Amino acid sequence: METTEFVLRDAKLADGRVVDIHTFDGLVTEVRKPGSPLHTCLPGVDLERWLVLPAMAEPHAHLDKALTAESVPNLTGDLRGAIDSWMSASSAGRFSYQDTTERATRAMELLLLHGATAVRTHVNVSSGIQSIRAVREAALRMNGLMDVQIVALTSNPMTGPEGKGNRAALAAAIEVGADLVGGCPHLDPDGPGLISHALEVATEAGIGVDLHVDEALDPSVLTLRDLARQVISSGFGNGVSAGHCVTLGLQSPEVQAEVAALVAEAGISVFPLPQTNLFLQGRDSPTATPRGLTATTALREAGVLVAAGADNVQDPFNLVGRSDPLETAALMVMAGHQTPDDSYSMVSTNARRALDLPESSIRPGDVADLVAIDAPSVRAAIADAPMSRRVFRRGVLVASADQDLRIHRTG
Ligand SMILES: [Zn+2]
Repeated sequence: METTEFVLRDAKLADGRVVDIHTFDGLVTEVRKPGSPLHTCLPGVDLERWLVLPAMAEPHAHLDKALTAESVPNLTGDLRGAIDSWMSASSAGRFSYQDTTERATRAMELLLLHGATAVRTHVNVSSGIQSIRAVREAALRMNGLMDVQIVALTSNPMTGPEGKGNRAALAAAIEVGADLVGGCPHLDPDGPGLISHALEVATEAGIGVDLHVDEALDPSVLTLRDLARQVISSGFGNGVSAGHCVTLGLQSPEVQAEVAALVAEAGISVFPLPQTNLFLQGRDSPTATPRGLTATTALREAGVLVAAGADNVQDPFNLVGRSDPLETAALMVMAGHQTPDDSYSMVSTNARRALDLPESSIRPGDVADLVAIDAPSVRAAIADAPMSRRVFRRGVLVASADQDLRIHRTG
């Protein structure tokens, strides 16, 4: 890699300090008062007191499905309707390699423009390896701009004789180079069996596990507990993440605390995914409609690493979404009842930790993955989500956007 020195001048930090951030070879080397004569001759950018924060990261995306809201309608609006419409469009051969590559690339570009320099995406693997190959090609196009991780998302059943084909599909996806083993234990006739198979396959491949867990509103479903117990008893040594975990939010405070303690002991990261769950869940409960969110506060109090993601973006699982982690952070404030600062951590530093990426907390030695936003505070950045942003990856400017708002008064 080429040696580069770069200074982000006149940057406002979240605590209000105005500083110059010196970077060298992609790392933050110094954070100091602005105007050092040493720095004025170095290449850099004057941020005019824009807020500079750790770059954002999307811990749970579906790039193979992104941006298909028009072409794949969800007839019932719920999770079952989304899965059915996707699977029938997929088996009808509606998604070409080229189409998937282009959409995945566009979805990543949108994430990058908003300030995310890393994404973990689930990719359906049950109908062959074309989608995973297409997303890998899209990831190659983003080489140097974003860190990309691909999870092999399996279909159900994964267990029993009827799961033979789906288990073979997972093996093929790992052969192609999936970075993590995925799956949905709550949708399998044998959830614990799916979990134990996922852990075995991941152990053999030397990779981590990232499951869709308990994306339902039935409180009797709680495979998160099974996952935690199996991770602890197996001594599984690679990373484990659990997305959704909706039914934990339906439990009593005692059960939430008990399961959260197990999840913390197992070292599992949990990803609330507010956009998609607010869209999909609770459609048959017109009174006091549940939010479909996990027990974020109980998990955090137990010491679980919680990172928040957007999940689906403009597809049958979520018709809207703008590929902006600040949208996720706003929902964690409004629907998840977290503070703005904590919510921002969940879409930035916590998400990076969950993805096992190097720290980017703007301290010497951290990677210089940063986002500058024309906003006076973290709260205001989340509230206004201004599209005046500069995105830096490893100390290099990789995306910029400028918002131009005008009121034209007449007379
Ligand atoms: Zn998902």
